[in-house]
Amino acid sequence: MRSGKELWDLVKNQLKLEMASTDFSEIFDPITEIHKIHNKYIFLIVPDILTKFRIEKFYLDTMNKLLVQIEEDKHNFKLITREVADKENSDNQKLGLTSVDSVDRQVSKRNLRSEYTFDNFVTGESNRFAWMNAIKVAESPHVTVNPLYIFGDVGLGKTHLMMAIGHYILDNNIHANVVYTTAQQFAEDYFLATNKKNINDIEKFYNYHRSADILLVDDIQFLSGKNSTQEEFFKVFEHLFETNKQIVITSDRAASDLENMMARLKSRFAWGMLVDIKSPDLNLRISILKRKLAFLIPNPIDVPNNVLEFIATTFDQNVRDLEGALRRFVSFCVSFNLPFTLESAKQSLEGITPKNKLDSFVTNDTNIDKIKQTVASYYKITVSDLESTSRKQHITYPRQVAIYLIRSRYDIPLKKIGEFFGNRDHATISHSYDKIINDINSNLQIKNDINIIESKIEESLKKKEKNN
Ligand code: ADP
Ligand code: MG
Repeated sequence: MRSGKELWDLVKNQLKLEMASTDFSEIFDPITEIHKIHNKYIFLIVPDILTKFRIEKFYLDTMNKLLVQIEEDKHNFKLITREVADKENSDNQKLGLTSVDSVDRQVSKRNLRSEYTFDNFVTGESNRFAWMNAIKVAESPHVTVNPLYIFGDVGLGKTHLMMAIGHYILDNNIHANVVYTTAQQFAEDYFLATNKKNINDIEKFYNYHRSADILLVDDIQFLSGKNSTQEEFFKVFEHLFETNKQIVITSDRAASDLENMMARLKSRFAWGMLVDIKSPDLNLRISILKRKLAFLIPNPIDVPNNVLEFIATTFDQNVRDLEGALRRFVSFCVSFNLPFTLESAKQSLEGITPKNKLDSFVTNDTNIDKIKQTVASYYKITVSDLESTSRKQHITYPRQVAIYLIRSRYDIPLKKIGEFFGNRDHATISHSYDKIINDINSNLQIKNDINIIESKIEESLKKKEKNN
């Protein structure tokens, strides 16, 4: 296999071809050193924490993809700041360890998803209390809230919040031993360790969890009915609790509702803080979409609000589905080179959108009037001009724009749209729509005009909502 440095140089060359040269030299030129290779990660040394954040947010995915193309041995990049890398080396020297060992222990336990941080967690009413307590625990583990028990339906951010605690603690103290496991993993490990009755395996299992400074156990409901595993978990819990170590647990239900779970365990859970996460409201769903977009495309503002509203209205139960829908929409537009319009959103999500949701996103005549008014005033003509049969260019074009805006915004039959514009037939409507899409893609000025008009429409519709 090639060395870490060779791999990085190859990826770097590739990046250079794909990026603007000023960005490249600013960000990547200074990165020339590998700290270590461990656990299938190649650790690159970056100058400071800001560079680290920036790369993690915008480039790390691409870097890892390039790496897979070059080297099939499934390595990934991780970033470490110069400061932390130096500290690791000097700590290891003090402890008389080789430069890798002691840190390996930390890193191997650090199986936290890199994007599940507090920074990336958007808060709203439904999750604020859970988030506040998570922050509390992260800032002062085993001082105030122990155990922290987070519960709620699937896909609402429990794992995210739990891992955010782990990241936060590790970011402040790389020597903290943060152990993340799922209850399922715990049960499997327990089974494997005790199955062969090999004392080494058993000891390893014991030490692994008992040496934690912070133990994160995801989806505890999985232990339901598994009595001997519960018994073992209870011992781990007691040990950590008595030695002032932090425990965080997630579950799909309240502790009191856990079935076939030892009463002793349930009551231990209740000693600490029990917090739930509920389904996010529309505002929070839209904010989450905006945050996730920043990871998906370079210019999140390219996706208009009405599209975000559509996705957020349609997928209102859990964040995982919401995010899935957004990804599907973006990759649909990108692969077929389509604009980020409501039309594309509907097409891309067709198979997974509940029918009643589509119906509920149609509009009423007042909204149509607002759009007509906005377009007419932008082009300095009148609404009756738009509705007239006139074929003068200075009227036809705004009319096509209005048709485009209505069609991309609402799910209305072409024939019906025709009725809004002096009974034009569906072919004319379809042609107008296609023409504007073409123009948007080929003419920056038009794209700009449309953006401005769309935001004016947003404003006027919002005003209307307020007045209602
Ligand atoms: P759970 O563990 O409750 O089933 P996850 O933590 O796996 O849910 O969350 C599912 C997805 O939704 C993840 O991608 C997560 O990042 C995202 N998510 C959930 N809540 C939020 C939030 N408040 N802000 C940002 N992303 C969120
Ligand atoms: Mg989870």
